[in-house]
Amino acid sequence: MTAIGFIGLGNMGGPMAANLLKAGHDVTGFDLSGEALARLVAGGGKRAVSADAAAAAGDVVITMLPAGPHVRAVYLGTGGVLASARQGSLLIDCSTIDVETARAVGAAAGEAGFGMLDAPVSGGVGGATAGTLTFMVGGTESDFARGEPILQSMGKTIVHAGTAGNGQAAKICNNMMLGISMIAVCEGFALAEKLGLDWQRLFDISSKSSGQCWAMTNYCPVPGPVPTSPANRGYKAGFTAEMMLKDLKLAQQAAQGAGAATPLGANAASLFALMVNAGDGAADFSAIFRFLTARTD
Ligand code: NAD
Repeated sequence: MTAIGFIGLGNMGGPMAANLLKAGHDVTGFDLSGEALARLVAGGGKRAVSADAAAAAGDVVITMLPAGPHVRAVYLGTGGVLASARQGSLLIDCSTIDVETARAVGAAAGEAGFGMLDAPVSGGVGGATAGTLTFMVGGTESDFARGEPILQSMGKTIVHAGTAGNGQAAKICNNMMLGISMIAVCEGFALAEKLGLDWQRLFDISSKSSGQCWAMTNYCPVPGPVPTSPANRGYKAGFTAEMMLKDLKLAQQAAQGAGAATPLGANAASLFALMVNAGDGAADFSAIFRFLTARTD
């Protein structure tokens, strides 16, 4: 049993904290939302009155916050995690944020004498609830070894991606590939329809051919071929277009900083921005199919 301070108990953090409790850990949490705190208490957790109180209550501190500025504020702000955590605590940020902030906060944690991991996840709310998340982890070997057993209570696949910030780097590279490949699959199915080629037949062929990819075989953006895909339930998210846009913007920011050419990533970011600006940001990201084909069904 480990004493864990958990800050950010939203759609992802709430069920992640619940799984830590189920695994027998002692969880003290904080969120700006009273409802989120009430859910933690109902699941057997303890309510902290502030982020710093939650940080002070654990030998491990986990954060699951919306974006980089929240992470900076919670860790580096006056009375923040670095000022309040117990000596020797391991700090784990599971939020999806920019690589630069992850490295800056990791370095500040190191200077303050803490080990820190950036450990963003993939698997969405379903994975957080089922405890089957994939964690992509940046940090030292020894901090990874300390954090791995805790992460195993919330996930199925825990991968050490290298030094600080590399967890975030892995996450945005993966999601940039996903955003691009989803659009590629959408264009293929849209063209097939115009050419009079049945979607199921294209799927039967392409899922066994060189066009095969996860966006097609696990998450097909048209109704029919993959019954579990959001296209079969009116594109109810899943993983929203807004979140895909967030990750594509992070990838573009990182690419510009590192001097990497990612022209298709830039195009994917523009297309998802258009879809979000058109008011469809809460839909699943595979609904880019209906945006690209201007469908109303
Ligand atoms: P969310 O908005 O549901 O939860 C964030 C929580 O943080 C909220 O409850 C909010 O009240 C809380 N919060 C914000 N500032 C705070 C502060 N200063 N102190 C305490 N609590 C604070 O978001 P989410 O869907 O849980 O996502 C969290 C992170 O996980 C994001 O970085 C997101 O990109 C990433 N992520 C989400 C998904 C998904 O499917 N939802 C999948 C993978 C990764």
